[in-house]
Amino acid sequence: MPLTLALVAHDRMKPALADWVARHAADLAPHSMVCTATTGGVIRRHSPDLAIRTVKSGPLGGDQQIGGMIADGEIHALVFFPDPLAPQAHDVDVKALLRIALVYDIPAAFSPATADLLVAGGLLARG
Ligand code: PGA
Repeated sequence: MPLTLALVAHDRMKPALADWVARHAADLAPHSMVCTATTGGVIRRHSPDLAIRTVKSGPLGGDQQIGGMIADGEIHALVFFPDPLAPQAHDVDVKALLRIALVYDIPAAFSPATADLLVAGGLLARG
């Protein structure tokens, strides 16, 4: 069964997430992806062949929408690259997304190195 992955990155980390997606495009292709709006736009430009669904932008509620999907069991893994060096207006939403990923114990990566390990660990082969 294909997985549904949530992909989110703060602005300065969007190139790193788009690069991660492009490097793993063949493995990601059978799966579904849901992104916050701006992240999804960047990924689509880099990997136009992948099917990506978007929710609202993170600061406008997108992180909360993804958190709700995790609570509903609709998201099987989260790849979220937050910016460790910039304050975020929606910091409470960011924390809530991290927390709900932990509550439901879904596989989650918060850096490119760890996201690579999720793939190397066979996450995408599970679908
Ligand atoms: P964005 O949202 O993809 O719309 O920039 C990400 C976030 O800041 O949570």
